[in-house]
Amino acid sequence: MQGKMKAAIVRKLGTPLKIETLPIPQPKAGEILIKVAACGVCHSDVHAVDGDWNPGPVLPLIPGHEVAGHVAAIGAGVKGFRLGDTVGVPWMYSACGTCEFCLAGMETICKSAEATGYSKPGGYAEFMVADAAFVARLPKKADLYAIAPILCAGVTTYRGLKRTKVRPGQWMTVIGIGGLGHIAVQYAVAMGMRVAAVDVDDEKLKLAKKLGAEVIVNAKKVDPVAEIQARIGGSHGAVVTAVATQAFEQAIGMLRPAGTVAYIGLPGGKADQVRASIAAISAWELTITGSNVGTRADLAEAVDFAIRGAVKAKIQKAPLTQINRIFNDMRRGKIVGRMVLDLA
Ligand code: NAD
Ligand code: ZN
Ligand code: ZN
Repeated sequence: MQGKMKAAIVRKLGTPLKIETLPIPQPKAGEILIKVAACGVCHSDVHAVDGDWNPGPVLPLIPGHEVAGHVAAIGAGVKGFRLGDTVGVPWMYSACGTCEFCLAGMETICKSAEATGYSKPGGYAEFMVADAAFVARLPKKADLYAIAPILCAGVTTYRGLKRTKVRPGQWMTVIGIGGLGHIAVQYAVAMGMRVAAVDVDDEKLKLAKKLGAEVIVNAKKVDPVAEIQARIGGSHGAVVTAVATQAFEQAIGMLRPAGTVAYIGLPGGKADQVRASIAAISAWELTITGSNVGTRADLAEAVDFAIRGAVKAKIQKAPLTQINRIFNDMRRGKIVGRMVLDLA
């Protein structure tokens, strides 16, 4: 497809995004062109543009990795897609498919993986190219705005919850009730877990309660470690989606003996280091694990929960022109639920 498109782009890290008119990209062999309808705004996009992580993104960068849209052109050799099919693009743009991790079903830790909206141009644009082997297939009737956050916030928290190995009936503490966290609460409930929610903002905790959290704790007002230990006897598992170092340290203290915490949030820079008690981890046989987005299998499962209505992102739509304001609100922790860019 020939022509021009609007996209939000950053050419120098730490500067605001600019809306530019660019040529529509062309799909190469194995790729598809997608007409973007919706793209969620993930805190990772802010980290990317702010240069919080090492290595940094490939510049110039079009961020965005919670993409939902329709197939607009098909590259050579691609099978199984038709023009107009409804698809989603996650953070995991591609993985090599042949390394030891890919072969073991752990493509999330493939060292040759590419990342949508980081090493490859993403969905803050009217069109984008994706690797056909890694896009999610979505039902024709899916609400593309509601489903967009599932492409990152959904699959990421779903996998994180699974990696704690918490069983139905056990306690899961979700720390950070932002875009990821408010969806994590819903997956945990849908997976039969009992949920405690921790954040520093009462409005977000109110949302967590509405979504099924039985216990809510404001870490700004009380010591969340003492509170979780006192009220539920410690948590069997925890996922940390907060963007503050302290939350990662506190999460370890919230566990029961034999508990597992999955680190998901990525504060980056100086905030990237935790201090933890070796004795506490050893004596209570705790597990600290990480979780990095999700495999294609995780994504298909996560999407299925959403399509069935078991999980539903609380979204607010905004035009692409609002992106710098949205980033500022996100840096200040002012967003309840998820902002979704309307590109249709
Ligand atoms: P968000 O800004 O929507 O949510 C962050 C939440 O953390 C907010 O609700 C905020 O109030 C809360 N918070 C801040 N300080 C806290 C504290 N001390 N205790 C408890 N809560 C606190 O961000 P998001 O889009 O949900 O992303 C969260 C993090 O997850 C980001 O760092 C992002 O880069 C990362 N992320 C990681 C992966 C992965 O695969 N590991 C995938 C997606 C996002
Ligand atoms: Zn993300
Ligand atoms: Zn690989």
